[in-house]
Amino acid sequence: MRSLLAYRVTFIPGDGTGPEISEAVRRVLEATGVEFEWDWQTAGADVYEEEGTPLPDRVIESIKERGLAIKGPITTPVGSGFRSINVALRKELDLYSCLRPCKAYAGVRTRFPETDIVIVRENHEDLYAGIEYELGDEKTARLREFIKDTEGTELREDVGVSIKPISVFGTKRIVRAAFDYAKANGRSKVTAAHKANIMKFTDGLFLKTAQEVAEEEYPDIEFEDRIIDNLCNQLVSRPEEYDVVVLPNLYGDIVSDLGAGLIGGLGVAPGANIGDETAVFEAVHGSAPKYKGQNKVNPMALMLSGLMLLRHIDEREAADRLEGAIAEVIREGESVTYDMKPSRDDPTAVGTSDVADAVIAKMEKVAA
Ligand code: NAD
Repeated sequence: MRSLLAYRVTFIPGDGTGPEISEAVRRVLEATGVEFEWDWQTAGADVYEEEGTPLPDRVIESIKERGLAIKGPITTPVGSGFRSINVALRKELDLYSCLRPCKAYAGVRTRFPETDIVIVRENHEDLYAGIEYELGDEKTARLREFIKDTEGTELREDVGVSIKPISVFGTKRIVRAAFDYAKANGRSKVTAAHKANIMKFTDGLFLKTAQEVAEEEYPDIEFEDRIIDNLCNQLVSRPEEYDVVVLPNLYGDIVSDLGAGLIGGLGVAPGANIGDETAVFEAVHGSAPKYKGQNKVNPMALMLSGLMLLRHIDEREAADRLEGAIAEVIREGESVTYDMKPSRDDPTAVGTSDVADAVIAKMEKVAA
């Protein structure tokens, strides 16, 4: 049912090609007929110069207040000293779940046209928790001593160490997120990926916890598990056998990109980072700065992220209409950007804003 009030959403246009893509997506989302009240918030390198931080509190406050945000890509300058804004946002807003639907629309260039998988990646734990011991550091020497005392294992002197924490708490909530997504979106199976045969106390814990959650809380949805290497093999041979796949952070990162490859590349790979209170929707790709201001890059990945936002707020009818329009534009293959043409220098490739025009025209045709 259509809400009478406008949805209040923070919109971060990003930098590089972000603002052009964001503008295309704003137009398309508004053309669905759903009412939005955007709170535009800038973040990134330019903001760093003016406000001394790339991610001012006003951005976090805006998202916290609204619970919803859509975000264009933001450049992380190499060697600038500021860490990735994307990582900071995930931490500040406790966005523990990264959702990456990987659906191959008819007409995209892919060897795996049957792919329709949703990757659910845990965002905070695992080897990405940021607990690292540097070569030569005094703390590393103490850690080596501790390991020698407790395990009897002598690590080499020239070692660096990263720690892999995986908790019951973190696993329960990511597995629940996967099952809840499956339930809300009519999906029938959840697969948990791990390397429990080797890392018993981390991946083993992940698997055991996932099995318990599946059995006790979601008996109506099929559950299975796969060792991560086997999963990768199967995803590139029989992707149609997978539905929702839930993974710890590191494997999730890698398999998400594998998924983007299965469905035709970065130009069509959407995503969302979701917590209990807040959801931030963004494309998988970065700011592609070399194309900035050229009206060239593909806005579909962020459009499909906008589609996820519509489903998240339960505007299902608008979401279906938007998806139908995007699918039709992709299937026809005319009003698409260079990356979706048979050759990258195809003279018939259109620009970012033309894709938005074509999608809006398709939606209007359906409505007429
Ligand atoms: P990138 O995704 O920006 O671009 C890599 C290449 O992929 C581009 O040169 C282009 O050929 C292609 N590409 C990317 N997006 C496309 C689109 N929408 N349409 C058509 N082609 C597209 O990756 P990068 O060059 O490694 O990163 C650039 C900057 O973006 C870096 O500073 C990086 O840290 C940042 N980044 C930001 C995010 C984010 O904000 N979520 C994500 C990834 C990278």
